[in-house]
Amino acid sequence: MSHIDKKFVETFGQSPDIIAAAPGRVNLIGEHIDYSDGFVLPFAINDRTYAAVRVRDDRKIRIASIQRKNRIVEVNLDVVKPGLKGEWERYPLGVMWAMGLEKGIDIMIDGHVPLGAGLSSSAALECSVATALNHLFSFGYSLEELARLTQKAENEYVGVPCGIMDQSVSLMAQTGSALLLDCRDLTTQNIAFDVASSGLELLIIDTQAHHSLTDGGYAERRAACESVVKKLEIKSLRELDLITLEASRSKISDTEFKRARHAVTEMKRVMEAVLALETKNFVALGILLNQSHASLRDDYNVSCPELNAAVEASLSAGALGARMVGGGFGGSAIALIKAAQVRETIAAVEKVFVENKFKAPRFFTSLPSQGAEIIQRG
Ligand code: ADP
Ligand code: MG
Repeated sequence: MSHIDKKFVETFGQSPDIIAAAPGRVNLIGEHIDYSDGFVLPFAINDRTYAAVRVRDDRKIRIASIQRKNRIVEVNLDVVKPGLKGEWERYPLGVMWAMGLEKGIDIMIDGHVPLGAGLSSSAALECSVATALNHLFSFGYSLEELARLTQKAENEYVGVPCGIMDQSVSLMAQTGSALLLDCRDLTTQNIAFDVASSGLELLIIDTQAHHSLTDGGYAERRAACESVVKKLEIKSLRELDLITLEASRSKISDTEFKRARHAVTEMKRVMEAVLALETKNFVALGILLNQSHASLRDDYNVSCPELNAAVEASLSAGALGARMVGGGFGGSAIALIKAAQVRETIAAVEKVFVENKFKAPRFFTSLPSQGAEIIQRG
């Protein structure tokens, strides 16, 4: 019996009908452009969130999370609508609402993706729940539909204006590959991402910094991009190229120009990164990571001292490239390093963090892993 199975029985008195798992993610490159209809290149990490579900014969929903001391939250399905107050349980409730659940359930969550570290524990949670419900109730939603529905849950029910990347990769990723995702139409392509055979490793550095700017900062960036789209009368920043942007400088503010320049150059870097992966040119990939970081730091202004220190210390220790990942203002950075230099790199980052009196960082390594799956049927 697995851990979650046992907890489920202890908490709800019966065994679950189904257990699903969905991973967190790291975005290799293509940051802050999912909402501009761009391309992104994330991969799923090994850490995942488990959702165990049992159907009830009434309309009661009972939810518990091992990461929330197993306390049971109970609501009636009829009141599950955007606006219903709550805490973490709004993520799974949002998924139930978006998918059109019509029966009561008992549901237990066990999340192994670090919460709030920029590794998308929120998408892992939503997608584990969505995958379990899709199979249990034979909804028949495709992975693309599940991505849209879980994004809708986070946007409209939880109220976080996230893009479509996190949910897509958590649902669609495949072992050994990064997922090239076209955020305009959700078409995907698996790009072999085999760092290990080249003697490399991807080090994930959780800075443990969470600057309160996050929420407003994210919305402000999205608003700036939307404003450029409006002023230049285009459908999205996807349609823009650098020459047109330069020529349109007088029509937009300096800040808007910088935000749009990040989006335009980052989209190009994603395509170059795909080429670098296909030719196993990891030196070129490293340079693209560095350029992405500089653009996020200087044009998009979403980095912070901790992220910059993590990136710079990794590079000083010999990394081929490094950049902040995720929304910014804290969270994680990644460094592409030689496998033999993992310990040196960790030591270098730790030293700089101590010197700057930053909170101690946490380190993970992960190879590209499998997306959401059913792991047990009762
Ligand atoms: P990230 O997605 O980068 O980890 P978010 O702030 O988007 O950070 O999502 C974290 C939130 O998701 C948590 O604060 C919590 O509300 C919810 N969450 C994620 N995983 C779990 C879990 N296993 N149990 C309870 N809540 C969770
Ligand atoms: Mg999240």
